[in-house]
Amino acid sequence: MFFLWSKAFSWGQTGHRITGEIAEKYLTPKARKNIRKLIGDQSLAIVSTWMDEIKSDPRYNHTHDWHWVTIPDGQTYEQTEKNPKGDVIEAIDRLGNVLKDRSQTDSARRDALMMLVHLVGDIHQPLHVGRGDDRGGNDIRVRWFGQNSNLHRVWDSDMIDSYQLSYTEYTDAIYRKYQHQAHQWISTDPRVWAYESMQPRDEIYAFDRDKSLGYLYHYKMRDLYELRLMQAGVRIAALLNSLLG
Ligand SMILES: [Zn+2]
Repeated sequence: MFFLWSKAFSWGQTGHRITGEIAEKYLTPKARKNIRKLIGDQSLAIVSTWMDEIKSDPRYNHTHDWHWVTIPDGQTYEQTEKNPKGDVIEAIDRLGNVLKDRSQTDSARRDALMMLVHLVGDIHQPLHVGRGDDRGGNDIRVRWFGQNSNLHRVWDSDMIDSYQLSYTEYTDAIYRKYQHQAHQWISTDPRVWAYESMQPRDEIYAFDRDKSLGYLYHYKMRDLYELRLMQAGVRIAALLNSLLG
């Protein structure tokens, strides 16, 4: 399928696939069985990017704003002005209700499942919880190792892809690094995940005025984005276990 690379993409394909691959490790047998009924033998890693692929299909135009949310500094989600087209927090709540409702059609529940795998990933990408003044860093033009990029893209894919690891190789590295802490992260509340994404804002925006990013920025941020990928995987599983387990 051809699809347009929207300006506001999300964890690139590698990042999303890592979250799906990690989630597979934490599913209960019952949740796994119910997932297989909806998506057959496809892995969560493979379906994790479907919500970006459908961005070029006009039938899904109404989903474009579900990938992110704006929460300015010092505000809670409840205090923010809500986007009438939806946001990632309300979408996770709403799609969760569709997925667990057995009176819904299989096709509605399958779409909800594939979207949830994607959106739980997105909400863990810190720049998908935006400050409200720069479209989640999309408006901050930077140089990444001398090439034109923007801050959002550095976080979605430039840093992750610079290792040139496959998603399974990178999953293995992240899982080894963080598996012993995974039990601390079992949570199913998207508000909690969004507030975690807001916390490192100052660090993420702390770079020189020339906005030339490379090794130094990458090494400073690496633990953080790898942690967020791991947490996203653990939470995809926690959510699916609670809805389908
Ligand atoms: Zn997305």
